[in-house]
Amino acid sequence: MRTTIHKLKGANMDIDLVTPQVDIVWTQDVCPWNAAEGTHEHRCAVKNVSICPYFRGVEHLDTLLCSYPVLIKKNT
Ligand code: SF4
Repeated sequence: MRTTIHKLKGANMDIDLVTPQVDIVWTQDVCPWNAAEGTHEHRCAVKNVSICPYFRGVEHLDTLLCSYPVLIKKNT
């Protein structure tokens, strides 16, 4: 069966990469902006508040698209 994907505007997202790894069972990459500044302050999208200027959306299923201008060290 063919699946149709709709692109719907106005999602109110709450996305970040700051949950401590010990608190989650999946692998989480590090926000390059937080890594560069040694903080956990930056979040991709904060529900009802803001969206990071480097946030470029989410790719199926849970991959964050980020344009922060550095090479990213990824967890594997
Ligand atoms: S979009 Fe990129 S730079 Fe912005 S908070 Fe998310 S991971 Fe960090």
